[in-house]
Amino acid sequence: MKIPAAAVLILLLAALAFAAPAAPPPPTPLLLTGARVLDPSGDRLLDGRDVLVENGHIAAIGATGTLQAPVGTQKIDLTGLTLIPGLIEMHSHLLLHPYDETPWDDQVLKESLELRTIRAVTAARATLEAGFTTVRDLGTEGAGYADVALRDAIAQGMIPGPRVFAATRAIVATGCYGPSGFDPRWEVPKGAQEVTGPVEMRKVVREQIAAGADWIKVYADYRRRPGITTPTLTQEEMAAAVDEARSAGLPVAAHAYTEEGIRRAVLAGVRTIEHGTYVTDDLLALMKQKGVALIPTLTASEAVSRYAGWKPGTPEPQRIKETREMFTRALKSGVTIANGSDVGVFAHGQNARELELMVAYGMSPKEALRAATATAAAVLGRGKDLGRIAPGYVADLVAVKGDPLAEISAIEKPVVVVKEGRVAVGPP
Ligand SMILES: [Zn+2]
Repeated sequence: MKIPAAAVLILLLAALAFAAPAAPPPPTPLLLTGARVLDPSGDRLLDGRDVLVENGHIAAIGATGTLQAPVGTQKIDLTGLTLIPGLIEMHSHLLLHPYDETPWDDQVLKESLELRTIRAVTAARATLEAGFTTVRDLGTEGAGYADVALRDAIAQGMIPGPRVFAATRAIVATGCYGPSGFDPRWEVPKGAQEVTGPVEMRKVVREQIAAGADWIKVYADYRRRPGITTPTLTQEEMAAAVDEARSAGLPVAAHAYTEEGIRRAVLAGVRTIEHGTYVTDDLLALMKQKGVALIPTLTASEAVSRYAGWKPGTPEPQRIKETREMFTRALKSGVTIANGSDVGVFAHGQNARELELMVAYGMSPKEALRAATATAAAVLGRGKDLGRIAPGYVADLVAVKGDPLAEISAIEKPVVVVKEGRVAVGPP
């Protein structure tokens, strides 16, 4: 068979396109002038500072008017504003949208993968515009590996959005996840990948890593019977997940509410416990000792309570009381707490609510901001280049009105958002 030369050329070009995905052009240098800047320790604001950004990184910080900027630098006047590091969301679901819009079962079973992915593009933009420059996305809930595509499209500059750490499909024990409640004759697709036994666990961890996962997410427990949350994965299964992920250099996050679920996950060596509602003081001490971080997802409890009919200002339902009580004990224990809200359960772009609830439940605004910046970066293994305004760090920067160290709600509506040295929002 003779192949026309034009076809060969097209194939060659196509092959080249796949070999080298278009990297976005390098950003022009930025000089952000006159802001109050959160100092690298995260403890205080420094008045009248300029921040020079080159090649997507913070090049220098100095008193206003003292820095030498290269020719062609874009200047942005931030006088009267406060500059904080780009915020980090440790528990998002970009492929979900609020359950009061569409119940979770219907999102998983009825919405097309294409519709869900396109909606996730808008969710990613809303997240970045809210000042969240990094998210750890903890499971696509039936949308396959769409988070990996979303992550890569953002990284290549195709669409605006936060830097994404993707967990892909997430892993559950067979028969222990939703959608559930169907006649046993019907094989209903699940919102996560099912496994039985350590061998299968290793297999799916390998599959997810091969498909592009940055983190592995497992469900240590779940409502496997109506209204009753019990442990699901065995100690051996969980250990296999952690061991296999560790071989590839990946950390593991565990959804865990129950005492036994949390214990198995912590003993297996996961890096984060998600939700943690029924964690005991002993387990908090063990988490602290082993360096396991807690991601409290306070906003999810609030949102789900609202969807069930609770009105803010009326007496709190049991679910919120339990979450608040857990958070108070966690604060006292000294365990690492990083900011994660379970956004997707509620609207993307409202991520700041989690910091407001952490403060409402007893954390200082300074510590809440740290939980969403330096602490979260450290849990991601990126403490040396994300989450602080310091020379050499990635230029993820957010300018807000007011003083977030005094009033955390100041972070709600950022005036300027810079991600990797590129202006995503503003200037006014
Ligand atoms: Zn979640």
